Amino acid sequence: MNEWKKNLRNIEPYVPGEQSKDTDIVKLNANENPYPPSPKAIEAIKSFPAETLRLYPHADATPLKKAIADYYGVGVENVFLGNGSDDVIALSFQAFFNSELPILYPDITYSFYPVWCRLFDIPYETKPLGADFRINPDDYRGKNGGVIIPNPNAPTSICEGDAFIKKLMEYNGGSVVIIDEAYADFSRYSCVKLTKEYENLLVTGTFSKSRSLAGLRIGFAIGSKALISVLEAVKNSYNSYTVDALSIAAGIASVKDTEYFNATIDRIINTRTRLTDELRTLGFTVLDSGANFIFATYEGRNMRDMFEYLKTKKVFIRYFNLPRIDNYVRITVGTDEETDTLLREIKNYLGGK
Ligand code: PMP
Repeated sequence: MNEWKKNLRNIEPYVPGEQSKDTDIVKLNANENPYPPSPKAIEAIKSFPAETLRLYPHADATPLKKAIADYYGVGVENVFLGNGSDDVIALSFQAFFNSELPILYPDITYSFYPVWCRLFDIPYETKPLGADFRINPDDYRGKNGGVIIPNPNAPTSICEGDAFIKKLMEYNGGSVVIIDEAYADFSRYSCVKLTKEYENLLVTGTFSKSRSLAGLRIGFAIGSKALISVLEAVKNSYNSYTVDALSIAAGIASVKDTEYFNATIDRIINTRTRLTDELRTLGFTVLDSGANFIFATYEGRNMRDMFEYLKTKKVFIRYFNLPRIDNYVRITVGTDEETDTLLREIKNYLGGK
């Protein structure tokens, strides 16, 4: 009986930040951008010739690749596109992590990495962050099957610079190194330029955060032709059309609107500074953030309890019940108004408990 069940895949999936159906919540739990996409991207969607949707999209989304290549100052052959950067990273794991040796990443990091390792049977080993939650590049020395590190790291929000990436690359000439730059625009540091120096460096990025287009699903990778051509081959062995025609049109308009992009980033960075300062004044420890979220704790207070309390006040933040960070909360930087509400409710919580 139920013999067929023994062949079903038994896997524990990644759990994203809760998406509530309520529209009156202050949603600071999924690192979404509080501002709308570029008006030019909205216009591109509104004026999109919907009747052309009967056709498949551009075979390899070259027009959007070209816009991204121009923005970063690389060639179109150095750009790969996918359905969100989760898709790009999952394909990269399949394309590059085929060694018997374990791949390496920090113990506290994006919790999708172990899920992909289990899905694709990739051995992995985690390297503990320091007591200050920084990544020590020396931990990534020695033979391995590959390295993946988000910069800024998530959920710690800490961003490293050129010296760190160069050290990592010097230690890892024998494997592919992926730097996940999902939040890099909020730190104004990117290691894309180093892909010209290191053929085994792949940098992934997304339109979901800094470009306010999480709903469209546009992710990309930048790297040497040697890496990008293998990624293309893996994608084309799985699903040829990962980027739809609407995303291509809106994506191009978004990349070209640098003025709106920079203004939005500036606004978020300013609110991040204000939120960090005010929380520190209240007694929180807040890590220096290079992302559109902050990571905070309060000695002697129960952060899980605060997270639950805020939820009852319709303020959603993120709590991870994981070793070492189970008394921290991750809070997405929202608008100034959302930040006012958040801070008011946090003060009520601290005052009342
Ligand atoms: N990398 C990191 C570190 C993230 O936090 C996220 C968002 N959950 C992603 C990649 C993927 O984002 P997306 O698929 O929307 O591009």
